[in-house]
Amino acid sequence: MLTKHQIQTFPKIELHCHLDGSIRPQTLIEIANQQGLFINQDETIVRTHMQAPADCHNLKDYLDCFDFVLPYLQTEDALTRAAFDVMEQAAEDGIAYIEIRFAPSLSMQKGLSCQQTIQAVAKGIALAETRYPIIGNILIIGMRQEALHDITSIFSEATALSEDKVVGLDLAGPEVDGYVPHLAESYRIFIDEQPIQLTLHAGECGCIQNIYQAIESGAQRIGHGIALKGDPATQAFVREQGVLIEGCPTSNVHTRAIDSYAAYPLREWLQNQVHFCLNTDNRTVSNTTLTNEYWHMVQHCGLTAEELATIMEHALQHSFASEEDKAALLVQMSAVFRTEAME
Ligand SMILES: [Zn+2]
Repeated sequence: MLTKHQIQTFPKIELHCHLDGSIRPQTLIEIANQQGLFINQDETIVRTHMQAPADCHNLKDYLDCFDFVLPYLQTEDALTRAAFDVMEQAAEDGIAYIEIRFAPSLSMQKGLSCQQTIQAVAKGIALAETRYPIIGNILIIGMRQEALHDITSIFSEATALSEDKVVGLDLAGPEVDGYVPHLAESYRIFIDEQPIQLTLHAGECGCIQNIYQAIESGAQRIGHGIALKGDPATQAFVREQGVLIEGCPTSNVHTRAIDSYAAYPLREWLQNQVHFCLNTDNRTVSNTTLTNEYWHMVQHCGLTAEELATIMEHALQHSFASEEDKAALLVQMSAVFRTEAME
């Protein structure tokens, strides 16, 4: 059986990790103290505000955890420190490549510009790259509950920046059935004209139509896509379109999209050749690591070493990393897979 240690040491790819949901409580305390903002100095208490409650009922309850963090993420130093912190955790988790996503609009409440927020996050990622064997890129989120004009303006600023680390766009927040046609205008022009790619949160709460519409509007990847469970026709569509599902098991258990890890459609997707990978979604809110996400699948869905390697290869293929980085990462992954550690 695949061991937790083998998963930990495999050079992993993570494509769906939110910055604001993944900061360590102790780091948030330091960020607050540095700004002279009030925060309880007891890490355990701060953690309770940042983690999904045991009685979390739905996506809305889950998203409420972010309200505690955001007031502290309104300066460049705070964003740089937060990005560095998430990269550091990812490196400890054995991740070789990560795409960290965040919504600039949520850190612009005290006067930062969209571009300042992005440069601050990019700085934290770059700093971590000099200290750890990990590569990080950024996905820019437009919040679905904000006005179309505001989301468009965020994407416009983000793409105009020419920051190499910005590799993709995303829409997140509470998911309404049929949201895609209303918001597609916010990103169409940018994905048509720029070398920037698109991943959309869709089918996180059972809205299958959102997955179709997201793919038809240009999404190369789908965040969560749990609505695909038990729907072979849509799974075939996803496969034919060459789209990857960024699966987030623990997050789906928390938001009650599935009842348990055993109910995660891992075997169904493998059998129907749907390309997917696993992700933490939010390291702190979900109290998880990528090693844990795959370990849950070993324990509850019989994930094998060979399947892990295949999933990771798909994750790399569908990542928005440069071709050069992809080639180097593939060599790194193949070397580990060939060693006895994975036998
Ligand atoms: Zn997400």
